[in-house]
Amino acid sequence: MSSRRVAPEIVDAVVVGAGFSGLYLLHRLRGLGFTTRVFERGGDVGGTWYWNRYPGARCDVESMQYSYSFDEALQQEWHWPEKFSAQPDILAYASHVADRFDLRRDIDFDTTVTAAHLDEAQGTWRVETDRGESVVARHLVMATGCISTTQMPAVDGLESYRGNTYHTGQWPHEKVDFSGQRVAVIGTGSSGIQAIPVIAEEAARVTVFQRTPNYSLPSQNAPMTAAYEDEWKRCYRERRAEMRYTFHGSLKDLNDVPARSVDEATRHAEYQKRWDIGGAGYLGAFNDLLTDQAANDTASEFVREKIRDIVHDRQTADALCPESHPIGTKRICIDSGYYETFNRDNVELVDLSDGAIERLTADGLVANGRAFAFDSIVFATGFDAMTGTLLAVDIRGRGGLPLRRKWEAGPRTYLGLMTAEFPNLFMITGPGSPSVKSNMMTSIEQHVELVTDTMAHMRDRGLALIEPERQAEDDWVAHVQEVANGTLFPRANSWYMGANIPGKPRLFMPYIGGVGPYRRICEEVVAAGYRGFRLHSLDAAAAAE
Ligand code: NAP
Repeated sequence: MSSRRVAPEIVDAVVVGAGFSGLYLLHRLRGLGFTTRVFERGGDVGGTWYWNRYPGARCDVESMQYSYSFDEALQQEWHWPEKFSAQPDILAYASHVADRFDLRRDIDFDTTVTAAHLDEAQGTWRVETDRGESVVARHLVMATGCISTTQMPAVDGLESYRGNTYHTGQWPHEKVDFSGQRVAVIGTGSSGIQAIPVIAEEAARVTVFQRTPNYSLPSQNAPMTAAYEDEWKRCYRERRAEMRYTFHGSLKDLNDVPARSVDEATRHAEYQKRWDIGGAGYLGAFNDLLTDQAANDTASEFVREKIRDIVHDRQTADALCPESHPIGTKRICIDSGYYETFNRDNVELVDLSDGAIERLTADGLVANGRAFAFDSIVFATGFDAMTGTLLAVDIRGRGGLPLRRKWEAGPRTYLGLMTAEFPNLFMITGPGSPSVKSNMMTSIEQHVELVTDTMAHMRDRGLALIEPERQAEDDWVAHVQEVANGTLFPRANSWYMGANIPGKPRLFMPYIGGVGPYRRICEEVVAAGYRGFRLHSLDAAAAAE
């Protein structure tokens, strides 16, 4: 047996993640002739749609807009069965893309990247996996998604509970049958609000534990009509081009006037019209809903009135009415029959606003001083969003600097794309980019194209390294906060602010300046010779040390 150490493979790029970012990256990198390895911790492609298989999981961006635009034949041939797609349909689409472009052969599944260390002398990244593999890459692209590290609450007695536990973000692949069961659902964010109505149809009893009520709007989901699909497909080219420069990266009808510039009846009619259409377009009813508290109050109150109309039990209705944050400053939820579910005999709401889940017991839990027995407990308790997955990897840049240390006081990036001291490390939809405040598909495509074009630009000019200048990064970080502070967003204890994770720094993580304006900034940066980035050859880098 030889003890000689085998030199690790060297590739142009390691991509971490085979969700929608990773799949498109691989396709593009291949097309540009770059050698690429993709590592994916899941057993197949799909990213967030691979993991979030809970009952009722559905996208709340319309199907015709939540898909790739990079390939005309792909977007023409794919058929979405519903206005808002269910998780299995989106996963089937991801799988189709992987087959169509023969992507799986370069993806290692069931493989977690554990560490990535910069080799300054070589200008490369050494990437380690939990399977013991070591790969050296010229570029490292983190396509790890924004909402992919689940968060379990730190509740006493978790180990003592003998029933079944589930987290919405790590749902089993086999069907979970709740028939005849007493089920607890903890959490009323987007995931809980989607899951509760579906679980309630199957289970004997559902008890919903709500710490903070959320605003939810009806999706008014419906089967796709041929006329709607045909119209979109006919106009796809122009509409996709337009989407890229809109505020949210999607086509929405924004009524570009302030809420209080119209009388109350007109305002009410506008809200009602949008409620009837369904979806998040409600927030486009007026142009100042997210910047003016008084304007926002009108939109918030309309939804509270709806809740009180729908939910029969007065006490339950009151508990479901959000009062502690302006509508839209926590991610708006989109549902199918959520509030109606509380009129069912088998559903109970437990309001934790003045209490808490105190502990889990062998057969259930104790909350607000009351003991409950459950066969299953569903944790819809969210994610360590935007930074959790990046920081779970032991990433070390110049001088061995850990990313965790650099971001101790919060994420620092230039354009949400790169961070100083970590050359050739790219993040797709990273903190400081529009990311979760946009149609993710639009933002993913923009970043993938920017990253791969940048790699080609470097190769054509014989440049080995790219990294942001410290000043450009500082200015961008300040800009991201300044834009957020001009809105109502910082008023909510949201995961956008890191507020759902104990000890996480409080700052607004996504860029809320808009997808279109952000894209223009990126275009100007590139046109100005990558303003704010330092591009250099390896020798120049070594000489600068
Ligand atoms: P989330 O929005 O963070 O909601 C987590 C819920 O769990 C909140 O209600 C939270 O209460 C509650 N919670 C956490 N710890 C708790 C504890 N110890 N005791 C009681 N309650 C607790 O997470 P999510 O619903 O999974 O959604 C995360 C994001 O994923 C969404 O905002 C959205 O961006 C995305 N998503 C999208 C879709 C879609 O496209 N339709 C579907 C699902 C998810 P507090 O509010 O008091 O913290």
